[in-house]
Amino acid sequence: MYRALQINKDEAGYRTELKALDESALPEGDVTVEVAWSTLNYKDGLAITGKGPVVRKFPLTPGIDMAGTVLESSHPCWKPGDKVVLNGWGVGETHSGCLAQKVRLNGHWLVPLPPTFTERQAMAIGTAGYTAMLCVLALEKHGIKPTDGEILVTGANGGVGSVAIMLLAKLGYTVIASTGRPEEAAHLKALGASDIIDRKELSEPGKPLGKERWAGVIDSVGSTTLANACATTKYAGAVAACGLAGGADFPATVMPFILRGVTLYGIDSVMAPSAKRMEAWTRLARDLDVAKLEANTAEIGLAEAIDVGAKLLEGRVRGRVVVDVNRCVADVGT
Ligand code: NDP
Repeated sequence: MYRALQINKDEAGYRTELKALDESALPEGDVTVEVAWSTLNYKDGLAITGKGPVVRKFPLTPGIDMAGTVLESSHPCWKPGDKVVLNGWGVGETHSGCLAQKVRLNGHWLVPLPPTFTERQAMAIGTAGYTAMLCVLALEKHGIKPTDGEILVTGANGGVGSVAIMLLAKLGYTVIASTGRPEEAAHLKALGASDIIDRKELSEPGKPLGKERWAGVIDSVGSTTLANACATTKYAGAVAACGLAGGADFPATVMPFILRGVTLYGIDSVMAPSAKRMEAWTRLARDLDVAKLEANTAEIGLAEAIDVGAKLLEGRVRGRVVVDVNRCVADVGT
């Protein structure tokens, strides 16, 4: 038996519960992992609450991320005892996921735990932090240098935004953090933001082109925020778009692209190929300030993940949340 969150949808409605499951509930896969830590991402909040169509088969265990130790493997790359990390690949959406003490996966989805990080630190990064790194890599590959000017990070108190601030600051960029929580300004500055702007400056409909300000942008909000960010990006600058916390629409014009040569990069972490993941994790190991990461991370047990997943969607969680899958399970019957 192992403990896991389980989502069901039937005549009794959509619900997520902490359960004790038999090993027969583990899905197909060639590697079985004992999960040490998982985490909560925006997508996990959508899955746990049912507020977004993330889960596509039932019953299913949510959780798109984990760090743990291989228990059994018939995959050539992994053997029992190996420390591994999983991000995405549809786990927690179509394949039972990582908010559990055990998970069974396809070996080619896994990456080795970078030796720099503990399992808990890897989950303090999680998909949010790995996506922030993918965004930073996109801006770097575009050729944006710290001397080119300010980088805007939207959704600054969120998982993606907060890790993006840490990474950019460590790399020498000047970061302007857009947030709806100005009371967190001191925290954002401690992570590395040079200044804070109110997210209302970007969320109201704006002009097709505004005053050029940003050398680059990392946006996890979407909608009018993304449109305004593009409209205020400097000539030949770039915007890395990865999220929809403010909406999935994109009410923009082509003007920034055709008159200022602005480039809009789409960032996907879920199906990113292994080489890209390895590059991102290698860079995270080099460029992330672990002390700042700890200061940006809260810890909960598996049972609490149901409530905290709902709070995350309401924008009431700051930074990252790690989930100890072995904590707060004693109250569950088998
Ligand atoms: P979080 O919930 O941790 O953070 C989102 C942040 O966005 C909030 O903290 C808040 O920041 C801001 N925000 C929330 N609601 C609104 C709103 N209505 N309007 C404007 N800003 C808002 O989520 P994550 O950082 O984990 O993820 C952010 C987005 O990125 C999500 O849409 C997620 O699905 C997406 N994502 C995409 C990935 C990909 O592969 N493309 C991978 C990971 C995430 P503040 O309080 O500072 O304003």
